[in-house]
Amino acid sequence: MNNNKPHTAYFCMEYGLDKEMRIYAGGLGILAGDILKAAKEYGYPITGIGILWRKGYTKQLIGQDGRPFDHYPVNEEIYEHAVDTGETVTVTIRDQEVKLKIWKLDKYNNASLYLLDANLPENRKYQTITDHLYGGFNDKRIAQEIILGIGGVRAIRKLGLNIDIYHFNEGHAVLAGTELIREKMDSGKDFKKAWEEIKENIVFTTHTPVKEGNETHSLDSLKKMSAFNGLNREQMKAIGDSPFSMTVAGLRLAKISNGVSKLHGQTSRAMWSNVKGKSDIISITNGIHRGTWVDNRIKENINNRQKLASVHQEMKKELINFVFKKTGAELNSENLLIGFARRAAPYKRPNLIFSKPEVIDPYLEEGKIQLIFSGKAHPMDDKGKDIIADIVKKSREFPNSVVFLEDYDMEIAHYLTRGCDVWLNNPRKPLEASGTSGMKAAMNGVLNLSILDGWWVEGCEHGINGWQFGDGYMGDGQDESDLYALHRILFNEVVDVYYNNKQRWQEMLYESIHSTYERFSAERMLKRYYEEMYN
Ligand SMILES: *Cc1c(COP(=O)(O)O)cnc(C)c1O
Repeated sequence: MNNNKPHTAYFCMEYGLDKEMRIYAGGLGILAGDILKAAKEYGYPITGIGILWRKGYTKQLIGQDGRPFDHYPVNEEIYEHAVDTGETVTVTIRDQEVKLKIWKLDKYNNASLYLLDANLPENRKYQTITDHLYGGFNDKRIAQEIILGIGGVRAIRKLGLNIDIYHFNEGHAVLAGTELIREKMDSGKDFKKAWEEIKENIVFTTHTPVKEGNETHSLDSLKKMSAFNGLNREQMKAIGDSPFSMTVAGLRLAKISNGVSKLHGQTSRAMWSNVKGKSDIISITNGIHRGTWVDNRIKENINNRQKLASVHQEMKKELINFVFKKTGAELNSENLLIGFARRAAPYKRPNLIFSKPEVIDPYLEEGKIQLIFSGKAHPMDDKGKDIIADIVKKSREFPNSVVFLEDYDMEIAHYLTRGCDVWLNNPRKPLEASGTSGMKAAMNGVLNLSILDGWWVEGCEHGINGWQFGDGYMGDGQDESDLYALHRILFNEVVDVYYNNKQRWQEMLYESIHSTYERFSAERMLKRYYEEMYN
């Protein structure tokens, strides 16, 4: 039945399919990986287009001094997991022809993913251009975007895929638009007509809710790097302005765009309201692939409250064991265990909970509150690294109550989102676009304790399936007010229910699973992509 559905090419810089395939950095890649797995499972004709990153994203470890450092080993294994199609395409980067091998990856029960790879000696200085995911700025990033976008469309042609819809997930892929336009112009259409026609086949997802976080390049740099791809300056400017904004280009090239939660859709509409000629921005809230993220024991006992509670306790012990093996920390499975794992960026405020030591320390001393953290800072983000150093310091002060797990990856996420009691999230609203780790947690019976931001605005039923704190406040003194609210809910509600009302906790655990299981699944997300974007 799904064979009649449009065949979509999904473009993304990164894919998180499995921990051994280190070609992802974080949430964007996990979303893309989940989409390909759900497409396979539910029979949606989607083909992924990406890059085979030879060194991937940083393997970020903690040094003796307690600060994170970055390390980039070659991931030789990735060449074993992917299959060489024997096909190649070329793109032009700074007037040099660069040859790209096309690999195919489909061993993770995923819809086929084609990965481009520049690691060939004849590419000379561009042989290493596909080494580091997000490892470069400006010219290097443009080169990588030429590979993903322009190389991606050429790979589709080379492989003879019949594509109806081109989905650019985030601005990185928008140069694909120039290739689609160029093809039409080669067949004799003028620029305007070509753009009009390809627009019908393009959809775009935006992710970054801060204007400055959206990537731009000067037209001069794009021209120098050969990213104009046959178009002229005026035409490029018409697509993405000057400087050329990858997001503006996406919004203009597509027939329809989306934000990744209801709130993020609103934020994006307000943020880009001045962009002329852009497509409508709707909201399609992210979802997760249950087969990857929800434990089978949860699925098997989904209607049995008692059993769910005992499965949770088992998973908690598995996590504690995992942490012990990694760090030697001995956590107590009878005491409250709170998890926090995401990119260490200042706006996510990972160490907010420690801001008033006189309040939190007595709980840590006693072990009544135990915390596990994980997350990488962007390699160039010193403030993010300071935050990690701060948490590591705290873990040395309270070795059996505070843990930091280095090199956050899908395996760590697997254990944490199954085994913690509570999943904490405290971004500075409205900067969390969606967030998906909280969905993983919720579906495994790990109760969310979160600011009303991203998906949680839609998911939260306070005191029933988890808790919110801060009431969505976004005014002056937000940090202080959020900290106060966190303390109030944490001590008066979370700690109280955990230690004094097991019955209620079990009820909430059940509600957490049942209230999110369908609504925040990748299955539902794909259904909406097909109904509202790909039609
Ligand atoms: C799920 C996941 C993410 C995304 O989670 P957020 O809540 O959006 O931060 C990032 N990294 C890994 C390894 C994940 O498994």
